[in-house]
Amino acid sequence: MKTPRRRPDPTAATALAPDPVVAVPAPESALPDDISEAPDRLRKERVIHTRVPAVLEAELKRFADSLRVPVSNLIRTILEDAVAVADRAGQSVERELLTVAQRVGNERERMRDAVAKLDPLDGVYGFQPLVLHVRAYCARCSQALEPGTAAHLALSEAPGARRFVCNNCVPSPQSAEPPKGVEP
Ligand SMILES: [Zn+2]
Repeated sequence: MKTPRRRPDPTAATALAPDPVVAVPAPESALPDDISEAPDRLRKERVIHTRVPAVLEAELKRFADSLRVPVSNLIRTILEDAVAVADRAGQSVERELLTVAQRVGNERERMRDAVAKLDPLDGVYGFQPLVLHVRAYCARCSQALEPGTAAHLALSEAPGARRFVCNNCVPSPQSAEPPKGVEP
């Protein structure tokens, strides 16, 4: 009996599995121009589904964990970065994306700063109070939240890792920013 030929994969458990699919909120800079004419709510929640090698997925998850940000935020930052670089250099975005795996390894500091500029609660429409039964981190201040801690689950339509916030970081009527595009 012959084993189907597959490229070698160091993660043996997933060697025969297809590449995992990662859903990534689309960066606005990657959208076609006519979309930018659309109302904010139409632009905001677009999602790209893409296949990535299992090894890259594992590396992205590990990196996102170390930054304590959702993996989708990290990938969006990388995409926006790649699009910007490709624009400057007049190269194709595809070619630029091919080097992303290396750059994730080589440019952690710069990527960390880029990710930090993202709103950690982007796309969140509300907060559900709960008592944690797992260890988590506050998506806004990165404080460790131990099991048994009262915290809030951030609710969002966008796919991605669950985000929790500590009691101090839940917006209050005084601190909450009005939705973008709404004139006072
Ligand atoms: Zn917090």
